[in-house]
Amino acid sequence: MLQDIASSPRKGVPRHDTARDNDVMPSRASNLFIVDTHVHIFPDTVAAKAVAKMEQHSGIKLATDGTLAGLTRSMATAEIRYAVTLPVSTRPDQVPGINRHALTLRTIPGIIPFGSLHPKIPNFRDEIRRLADGRIRGVKMHPDHQSFFIDEESLFSLYEALAESGLILAIHAGGNINLPDPARCTPERLANVIRKVPGLKIMAAHLGGWKHWKEVERHLVGLPLWMDTSFTLGHCPLEQILRIVRRHGAHRILFGTDSPWVDQAQAVEELMQTPFTPQEKRAILWDNATALLNLPAPINTIER
Ligand SMILES: [Zn+2]
Repeated sequence: MLQDIASSPRKGVPRHDTARDNDVMPSRASNLFIVDTHVHIFPDTVAAKAVAKMEQHSGIKLATDGTLAGLTRSMATAEIRYAVTLPVSTRPDQVPGINRHALTLRTIPGIIPFGSLHPKIPNFRDEIRRLADGRIRGVKMHPDHQSFFIDEESLFSLYEALAESGLILAIHAGGNINLPDPARCTPERLANVIRKVPGLKIMAAHLGGWKHWKEVERHLVGLPLWMDTSFTLGHCPLEQILRIVRRHGAHRILFGTDSPWVDQAQAVEELMQTPFTPQEKRAILWDNATALLNLPAPINTIER
């Protein structure tokens, strides 16, 4: 329970002043509202194959079976209320099917499905319209799996169309565990996009650039984008994480796990064990995502 984790000495978590915690934390476990803004699932028909391939290529044992049911079980264990599913297309012809699947996920409690775009689809305006009409909140793009540099001139009409539609762009940022350099979405290139398309809402994974955190500090910190926490604890020095989050502003940091790459319960626990203040943890774990994704507010939220 978040309240317990935040304010009791469980598993070595430092004890905070309970009276102060109550100012920012809901008072009951039923008010838990953790939002995981970065997860992956696959349709049941392909999940086993996809997971086997991911495990084989990475040597990492995945935390779920890659299905919706597996994610839902993981969310229940981790006490996560909402998870944002981010599908990646590797070929343009996969986009319509992936987006059809995303639209079917809208009715699943707790699931906030994003769609997919690929830089080589000719009819991106139609896909964007279909997703926006279906009240999908955003799309995922992955420059390294989709072979494009984030600030390529040819992509800007797509970014403008996304900005106009209000859809969020969730983007893989920085290096990859399984792919060779160069990274195609570096902090410097991402900053170019933010400057040229100021209306585009961007959620950048891995605190703005996996293994590119020095450049994040140089080029991205303070710019108007959201950055998620996935694959940062244990990969980036803790003091650098604290510095990036606080210079950028904790109000633009989102909790993300990259499940099934990482176990959600463990990721929540690790975040709770950081020296972030209860206010910062609450912002990262739910308030920021709730506002950005326009989710229903938790019951009995204490006014601040
Ligand atoms: Zn991911």
